[in-house]
Amino acid sequence: MAPNLNFTQSQFDVASLGQCNVESPLQLSTVPGDGRCDFTFDDARILYEPRFRTGEAICPLSLEHAGPRQKIFFDPAKVKAAIVTCGGLSPGINNVVRTVVLELIHNYGVPQVVGIRFGYEGLNPAVGRPPMSLTPEVVENIHHHGGTILGTSRGPQEANTTVDFLVSQGINILFCIGGDGTQRGSHAIAVEVARRGLKIAVVGIPKTIDNDIEFCYTTFGFATAVAEAEVAIDRAHVEAKSVDNGVGLVKLMGREAGFITATAVLASGEANFCLVPELPLELHGPHGFLAKLKRRLQARSHAVVVVAEGAGQHLLKEIAGADASGNRRLADIGYFLKEQIESYLKAEGVPTSVKYFDPSYLIRSLPAEAVDSLLCERFARAAVHAAMSGRTDLLIGLWHNHLIHVPLTTSTGLKKRLDPESELWTSVLSLTGQEKW
Ligand code: ATP
Ligand code: MG
Repeated sequence: MAPNLNFTQSQFDVASLGQCNVESPLQLSTVPGDGRCDFTFDDARILYEPRFRTGEAICPLSLEHAGPRQKIFFDPAKVKAAIVTCGGLSPGINNVVRTVVLELIHNYGVPQVVGIRFGYEGLNPAVGRPPMSLTPEVVENIHHHGGTILGTSRGPQEANTTVDFLVSQGINILFCIGGDGTQRGSHAIAVEVARRGLKIAVVGIPKTIDNDIEFCYTTFGFATAVAEAEVAIDRAHVEAKSVDNGVGLVKLMGREAGFITATAVLASGEANFCLVPELPLELHGPHGFLAKLKRRLQARSHAVVVVAEGAGQHLLKEIAGADASGNRRLADIGYFLKEQIESYLKAEGVPTSVKYFDPSYLIRSLPAEAVDSLLCERFARAAVHAAMSGRTDLLIGLWHNHLIHVPLTTSTGLKKRLDPESELWTSVLSLTGQEKW
């Protein structure tokens, strides 16, 4: 993505609850090069844009480097931390919960961590879902399982009610694991906390299987999703090649961003068409998708088409309404494309057999594979360090492979989208050849 250089440095200033006067209990070094892992300097920064041309001035914008601070805000003995998980599933949520609990209890010596049940609902006492205690024993094996042991939900809660609840429970750190909606919710809580002058840290950990959160090069769950999506594409290819003019059609996750689709297409190497929400999809006319598909079948006798769920929505009858969180409902592009392909090829006198794959729910509920487990570990520990140092109203990001702090006000308004000028999309076009048919 081309960098947005319209930011001002103050948009990267992270809020803090106050002075850090407590010595960190972590056994880390302050001397670089002494063979022991170091605390992160308080003023450590990561350049926003590291690319430049010779002779050009370097862009001075920078973000705060995440990591353990030598002086922290909270006295660990007085911390009661809570974790909430909201929105849809993504592989790795339990890994994040487990690492947050273990880092707080084993390394910082925090006496009490609780899990909020079923998303923000669990922060409303009227719903009647009390928090559960999270101990090292409770979280011991949870990272081997998909889903979230805390439960999740959609639908908003009043920030006023949730802050009343946090105060009544004596909770002074809240970790919010979720996507864009969740982080808008955590920002609303942080704003209410600040309005009341309370000392409660609110730290967001990005969870989006679609990888569409800005300031996160990649989010946990994405690699697992791509690996499983690749399997579906490979199977669709086997189906397509097994009959004359066979078409394998795979629908993947990606409501507004085509990252899973484009990346799985590259990983598989078997797709001939990759359709994503960011690029226009025209069906008809000599250069429309259907005519291209026919030419491809005439040349090669089989084709694999991979479509993101949010692609070509303008072609479908709009579905009224939204889910409990206000997210627009999407019409099913997969079935629609299947029907369109079948009726078009029939009318053109090209006999075909279309095999349709929709592996979405099989993917979301998987446990995290190794690369994602590592990401969960990194994000979770960075979130704990940020909270213990009294930083608040922030999201943990991953920028040039460094963990960073991003103010929620800056991150929540932005959406990461696949850039048609990027290396990723250029590679997809090179691989599929979809523009040449
Ligand atoms: P996913 O990637 O699955 O969409 P998400 O975090 O975006 O994850 P949502 O269901 O959109 O999932 O939102 C999660 C929670 O955040 C819901 O309880 C929702 O009501 C709440 N939420 C969304 N927007 C806001 C907002 N502006 N203020 C307060 N709460 C919000
Ligand atoms: Mg969302």
